[in-house]
Amino acid sequence: MKRGHRLRHKPRHILHSSLQRSSEDSAYRSVCPLCKVGLLMVGRNQETLALVRLDRCTYCAQHFFYDDETIGDEPVEALPPDYEKTVEAQIKALSPQLVKDLGN
Ligand SMILES: [Zn+2]
Repeated sequence: MKRGHRLRHKPRHILHSSLQRSSEDSAYRSVCPLCKVGLLMVGRNQETLALVRLDRCTYCAQHFFYDDETIGDEPVEALPPDYEKTVEAQIKALSPQLVKDLGN
């Protein structure tokens, strides 16, 4: 199984609360349920610092949407309208070279 092999796969919906945390030190960081190698870090909006729903595995590069209302007792940012479609289009548009580089 290669690094980045799920980069262009359609994003999946998951519950963060159902994931296995990578350590007891973080209420956010989880083990990817697909490759079980990479981590899901949970990102923040750079402007508002709110938790972001979209995440990507550090190894297989699968994108996930968290369906939870809160993560680690913090509210998760609402998705703007059509955000999912936008993300899917962006993922499809990722350059073949980037996919190839990540796959190595
Ligand atoms: Zn993964």
